[in-house]
Amino acid sequence: MIETVGGVVRPPPVETVPLAQAHSRILAADIKADRDYPPIARSLRDGFAIHAADAPGTVSIIGETRAGEGRQPALARGYAVEIMTGAPVPSGADAVVMVEHVEHSGEKVTIPQAARVGQFINRQGAEAQAGTTLIPEGARLDASHIGTLAMTGHTGAAVYRKPSVAILSTGDELVDVGSTPAPHQIRNSNSYSLAALVIAAGGKAVILPVARDTEPELLSSLEQGLRYDLLLISGGVSAGKYDLVKPCLRQLGAEFLFERVKIQPGRPVAFGRIRDKFVFGLPGNPGSSMVTFLLFAKAALELLSGRREPLLPIVEARFEAPFEHRLGLTRFLPARLGENGSLRHEPWQGSSDLPALARANVFLIADHNRESWVAGDSIRVLLKP
Ligand code: AMP
Ligand code: MG
Repeated sequence: MIETVGGVVRPPPVETVPLAQAHSRILAADIKADRDYPPIARSLRDGFAIHAADAPGTVSIIGETRAGEGRQPALARGYAVEIMTGAPVPSGADAVVMVEHVEHSGEKVTIPQAARVGQFINRQGAEAQAGTTLIPEGARLDASHIGTLAMTGHTGAAVYRKPSVAILSTGDELVDVGSTPAPHQIRNSNSYSLAALVIAAGGKAVILPVARDTEPELLSSLEQGLRYDLLLISGGVSAGKYDLVKPCLRQLGAEFLFERVKIQPGRPVAFGRIRDKFVFGLPGNPGSSMVTFLLFAKAALELLSGRREPLLPIVEARFEAPFEHRLGLTRFLPARLGENGSLRHEPWQGSSDLPALARANVFLIADHNRESWVAGDSIRVLLKP
């Protein structure tokens, strides 16, 4: 269980996973350099290790060194060692000249140009000195982090346990995915799209049975949902007569931190604290629940996962054609981002239009205080996970 103390989220328990399964997990302890990187000076090119002061000029080749060989004897002035990329640079040598830039005949090599001290040498400790932090606790592990763990001798990664996230869809109109709905019914799609979003954000998704819009049924489903680290509720948070989620949560002791946001879709999204848990009431239309998850619930889930810097994946794009919307609300609308950052608004019927969302690969972000854009104007877009 993830506990909160005075609103501060305590880090979850730690587990160790094999490196191959560590991608996207949240690191539970700093990873430090176990030695200098590189541990000895190494050549960055194929060529000749020399004394920079000998260039331009002609020097004698006294040997050869390649990657995987131990340190070579010190290099005296007037001499060069033929060196391969990655090979240790002999002491004394303070520059590497590329094989393409010299004239090489027999035992002699002529360097026509001056050499800079340190050129093409990766100094000992230049990338990292022993003991420095390479990956901070709280980082979400990507492929280069996995490589860094391997480089420093870790066969596994200490990561935070994934928070469990209960998903509770509410609504009298909902039927299970496997059923054939009557014309007035719809299949419960939100539980599955939300579960996918939860998993993509690093949580463990637990889909609870759908709750009908009655107080007793909601109260008992909510109690069940509060056994998990985070509770996401879909539907029942608007102002309708049968939107009973917030009154029921209040009965159970919830305190709301916000209950409305000036966005569309998703205006009635609610966020509250109840006992030692956090809960989101996400509006039931598929577009609304998806957008509000991405904007709010995802950050909460990431913080509960031990992640330090939840980030919204937002990039800039350019409209292919003029675009307009009504002032007042910031809108997150389905759109297609193509090559070269060009953006096409995807026409939709509103936040129930799952087919339009399926055609989109981003949400364009139409700010509340700007009404129109012409072709070529730039706009921010939120990437769809
Ligand atoms: P609500 O937020 O409860 O007022 O729901 C708004 C609309 O969203 C409903 O009329 C349904 O069409 C739709 N909806 C609610 N819950 C779901 C769900 N779990 N899956 C798909 N659509 C839903
Ligand atoms: Mg409803």
